[in-house]
Amino acid sequence: ILARIKDVCKRNGLLILSVLSVTIGCLLGFFLRTRRLSQQEISYFQFPGELLMRMLKMLILPLVYRTKSIPIIKSNKASSESTTRRIIIYGVQDENGSNVQNFALDITPPPEVIYKSEPGTSDGMNVLGIVIFSATMGIMLGRMGNSGVPLVSFCQCLNESVMKIVAVAVWYFPFGIVFLIAGKILEMDDPSAIGKKLGFYAITVVCGLVVHGLFILPMMYFFITKKNPIVFIRGILQALLIALATSSSSATLPITFKCLLENNHVDRRIARFVLPVGATINMDGTALYEAVAAIFIAQVNNYELDFGQIITISITATAASIGAAGIPQAGLVTMVIVLTSVGLPTDDITLIIAVDWALDRFRTMINVLGDALAAGIMAHICRKEFIKDGDEVTTIPNLN
Ligand code: ASP
Repeated sequence: ILARIKDVCKRNGLLILSVLSVTIGCLLGFFLRTRRLSQQEISYFQFPGELLMRMLKMLILPLVYRTKSIPIIKSNKASSESTTRRIIIYGVQDENGSNVQNFALDITPPPEVIYKSEPGTSDGMNVLGIVIFSATMGIMLGRMGNSGVPLVSFCQCLNESVMKIVAVAVWYFPFGIVFLIAGKILEMDDPSAIGKKLGFYAITVVCGLVVHGLFILPMMYFFITKKNPIVFIRGILQALLIALATSSSSATLPITFKCLLENNHVDRRIARFVLPVGATINMDGTALYEAVAAIFIAQVNNYELDFGQIITISITATAASIGAAGIPQAGLVTMVIVLTSVGLPTDDITLIIAVDWALDRFRTMINVLGDALAAGIMAHICRKEFIKDGDEVTTIPNLN
């Protein structure tokens, strides 16, 4: 038995450490709340968590850039074009009129909006814009033949070095997670001050996310691929924990890549395209939460919503989630779109701020789960074309 436990620990070392660090972070946070630390002490305590966030953000730009241009250069042009088409259709199936315009603006970014800021949140990155720019560059480099070789080699070196940095950085993550979670708990408002109604609202959002994450998404995966969703979800557990700790689907990208490639064996070219696009426009958890929050705000104001308005809320919540960046509490900002669509007071967003930091973590987990399952589904749908193309040779270090 001891030998078996040792083997399981060896194979799932990082995952076990991540689960432990979430638990220790919660316990430490609630324990230290009783000690009434000063603001200065809390900020020292949050420092290792801040470092973790910075490390993750540092990796996104080279990761997205290199992961998009190299596979396009290497893969068969016709198949990569048809795959691109399918992925975009999958991602923007729920777009309405005005959002197509925003989508077009997002995918053609001038350099100053590669990093775009959302009011009230930390800086986010226009991942979609980077994806489209890198894909276009990849196609052009492919057409340039020999004269494009130096830049192609540069991208390949970038590719390998980024994966090596990820391999080292993941060992810092469990340590960073402890402080990230404990630091947030130290900062939060007194739980007893949060009203009963707000408690019901938070429970409704969490139940909705659980139903979506544990039943709807896995069933979709099962019906399309005929594969076991539990095995798939087990493979991305580490990414889900990082999403829980960071509240950012963009920051979680490097780990989601690692899990999909190493544990779920999703085709690299699919993962490299679907994940960055998904982290920007495919936000199931955010859409669900925005709709519940809008209905909650209507109830607080004794505002009767008719059936048409509930439909409007569902559509605008989906559109607003597509507009939200994959960064902490971005959904809170795009809530304005949903509230305005049915004439609810936008100032009432302040009512839900007290519990949003916690709900954000859960909805980010569902956003990441939705992207990963979408990659699994796309890999299944496109499998014949990729078998035809042959596999691409890239070194992915074994991180466990
Ligand atoms: N934090 C979420 C994410 O990164 C976005 C949001 O709903 O606020 O996916």
